[in-house]
Amino acid sequence: MNHYIPNFSTKKFKMSLSFLFKTLFLIFFTVKNSFSFEINEVAKGLFVHFGQQEDSNSKNNGDIANIGFIVGSQSIVVIDTGGTPEIGMKLLKKIKETSNLPISHIVITHSHPDHFFGTEAFVGENVTIIGHENLERALITNFEFYKNLQFNLIRQDSIKKTKLIIPNQTVESGKIKTIDIGNREIEIKAWKSGHTDNDLSIYDKKTRFFWSENIFVERTPSIRASIKGWKSNLDEALKMDIDTIIPGHGPLKKKNQAIQPMMNYFDRLIKEVRKFHKSGRTLRDAQNLAAPKNVEKWLLFDSYHSSNVTKTYTELEWE
Ligand SMILES: [Zn+2]
Repeated sequence: MNHYIPNFSTKKFKMSLSFLFKTLFLIFFTVKNSFSFEINEVAKGLFVHFGQQEDSNSKNNGDIANIGFIVGSQSIVVIDTGGTPEIGMKLLKKIKETSNLPISHIVITHSHPDHFFGTEAFVGENVTIIGHENLERALITNFEFYKNLQFNLIRQDSIKKTKLIIPNQTVESGKIKTIDIGNREIEIKAWKSGHTDNDLSIYDKKTRFFWSENIFVERTPSIRASIKGWKSNLDEALKMDIDTIIPGHGPLKKKNQAIQPMMNYFDRLIKEVRKFHKSGRTLRDAQNLAAPKNVEKWLLFDSYHSSNVTKTYTELEWE
């Protein structure tokens, strides 16, 4: 019987050692990458985790929205919980590492899954969950659809087990609710239909930072409710005493810098779609031909522009 005797010649041994190190190196960085979760203190006591400017997939783990928290002298308010239970847990961990204060509130900015699928991580924290008065209905209607969507895009089993968590405090459309987290007043405003029909913004009076999902920086704004409503919301925001904007997606910008590109895009869309209506052309013509140039250089323009045209076309149909 012939036995295989391993030949540990020095050269082969060195090669296998180098292979082993390379493999370990790769494993280490893959694991490290999938767990890295950065939090930036963008103003005193105001922490933001910036999501990727992409659509959710298994590489970015659904980490595509800006989420974070504000620390007062008494408690902490969390703003959105991310696109998966895992992201919610990472955010909670960062909060615990940052401060010993209790979390008193979670604000869910709107009903899109990249912003609230991490809420379950906070269930043990005895928090008040604040949403727009229209949020509950939107969540109940779309939750199962969003759960399947998130799972199919991100492929994490924990998504399938996620339970729907409904806000226990609401803000009426057009109204502001002020909460005090200790020497720090936070104004939570419920907007009329814009990006969705259930958008909330957060205004930190101390820093004049304004956190709003109604504002997209760099990433194509996706119109899900009303382009005209969204424009009038932006007009209103322009009049507010805001220093810096934390958008739902994208980097921080000063107020005008953040809002102006959206205004330009919406104005162009409205103007061009009106021309299609005037000349009696079809929705399909508009989808292919209305405002085709990406003047503001939006990211993901090809994925969202055509559905923005559709939404604008149907909204302007009966003007
Ligand atoms: Zn959204």
